[in-house]
Parts: sequence; C-alpha cells; structure tokens
Amino acid sequence: ERAGIDAGGTLIKVAIQKRQGWHFQSFSIRQVDECLAWLNERAAPLSLRITGGKADMVQDKLNRQDKASVPEFLASCNGARHLLALDGQSQLTDFILTNVGTGTSINLIRGETQEWVGGTGVGGGTLVGLSGLLTNVYDYSKLIQLAAQGHRDSVDLTVSRIYGNGTPPIPGDLTASNFGAVSSKAAVPPSADQVASVIGLVAETVTALSVMAAQKAGVDTVVYIGSSFVENPKLKKSVTRYSRQWGLTPIILRDGSFCGAVGAALSN
Ligand code: ATP
Ligand code: MG
Repeated sequence: ERAGIDAGGTLIKVAIQKRQGWHFQSFSIRQVDECLAWLNERAAPLSLRITGGKADMVQDKLNRQDKASVPEFLASCNGARHLLALDGQSQLTDFILTNVGTGTSINLIRGETQEWVGGTGVGGGTLVGLSGLLTNVYDYSKLIQLAAQGHRDSVDLTVSRIYGNGTPPIPGDLTASNFGAVSSKAAVPPSADQVASVIGLVAETVTALSVMAAQKAGVDTVVYIGSSFVENPKLKKSVTRYSRQWGLTPIILRDGSFCGAVGAALSN
C-alpha cells in the first residue's frame, strides 16, 4: 500500500491507496501524534511520502528521513490530475487549480506542466479567523452551521443597491462592497449574517483571482480544491455561481481536500 500525508497550516490529510481505491482521513495539525499512531496501527507496511508546509515537522516526528518531502504544488497538481481522471475527466488537461486551504494558492496546469501563478492570503484561515473575531465562534463546523441561517444582504452591498432605480453597467447582483452595508453601530447584523458574509468575501476573492488567472492563461476551467469546501455549501455555491458569471466552468473536485496527500502517495 502507498500512502501520502499532506501536512498544512491547519489540517493533516492522509491518503492511502488500497486495491479497492483510496482511503482518506484528516486530522487537526495539533493531532500529529494521533495521526501517526493511527497510521502505525494499520496492518500493511506503508510506503509513505509527505508534503505540505509542515512536512518537515512530520518527518522529524516520524524519525525516518529516508525519503525527501514532496514539493507542495507538485503534489497537489499531480493529485488533482489523478482525482480528475478517476472522476472520468481525464480529457481536461489545461486548467487553473485553485487550492483554498488556510491560505489560497493558484496554479496553472497545462498537460504535464504546472506553474504557480499567484494566490491570496484570503482563504479558509480567514473564514475561521475573521468569523471568530466577529462572532466569538472559532469552531469550523459551528461556523458553517451558523452561516446556514445567514443572509448577506444585511452586511454586503450589491451593485444594484448602489444604483437603486438606475441601470448598473455590470450585473446588479454582483457584490459592490463586501461588508459595505454595515455603516453604524446601531445596526449590527446578526452573527449568522456576518459569517455568511465572511464566506462570501472568501468566495469572491478566490474566484476573482482565479478568473483573472484563467483569462490571462486562456483556459476555460477552474478546478477548486482544499478543505475550505468541506461541508460548506455556501462557499461552493458562491464560487460556482461567480465563476459561471465569467463564462468559466468551475469544478469543485470531490475529495479535493486530499489532492496533496494523493499526489504525495503517487510519488512513491
Ligand atoms: P495550507 O495549504 O494553506 O498550508 P491546509 O493544507 O491545512 O493549509 P486545508 O486543509 O486545505 O488547508 O484547509 C483548511 C481550511 O479548511 C480551514 O482553514 C477551514 O476553513 C477548513 N476546514 C475544514 N474542515 C475543518 C476542520 N475540521 N477543522 C478546521 N478547519 C476546517
Ligand atoms: Mg494545504
């Protein structure tokens, strides 16, 4: 069995390739020991490769530096190609790969090549951190639950609200100003609305950059990965909608959180 670990800023993702297919598991980055114990308990001896910003920290704990860590973008791009092929999308060769992890990185994939073309510090860490500061809820699942009842219109200003009865030069439902509808302490929106709007801010920031990258490269598909999409229908919906408004085909890859771990495993 081949296995890969992707240790990122927030989560450790593990992918194990079995005869029946991939087995996935994730842990908090604070649970490195639990993660390694879990791996040790597995029967078959594992051939293991590690990637991610915290790969070296995990290597040190493993005490086996026989294999070098796999470069993060190489791993995530290879993993994405592999998972796309498993999804019956091997015809897709040229696309933008946007990884919304703790932070967001954008790679251009053309055939067998990949190139980092940019990113933004706005990502899943922003979702948790900014929402936490605003609402005092710092737990990811609780934030997602909270956002489910939230409405962005008490927080964000759309183009059509600025134009009123006038005709806007761009689609009126676009966000003109994230958090721009909040103008006085007298009318602080409910927590649920605040979190929904933070998710909107993350969605629109990562999508806008992905769109620019796709246009510059002349590709028409953006593949979105990273754990920020896990159980997060609001992020998925906004990213999908906004990408389509720009004429791009968005793919939010199933098991896309595990691209890095899959790519690392495949480097064995
Ligand atoms: P990076 O690649 O930037 O170093 P990472 O690899 O740890 O970070 P991901 O695991 O792809 O990043 O995504 C982390 C984000 O996923 C978090 O910031 C949070 O928004 C979201 N998330 C999803 N599930 C959880 C969870 N169980 N606990 C905490 N955050 C979660
Ligand atoms: Mg990552």
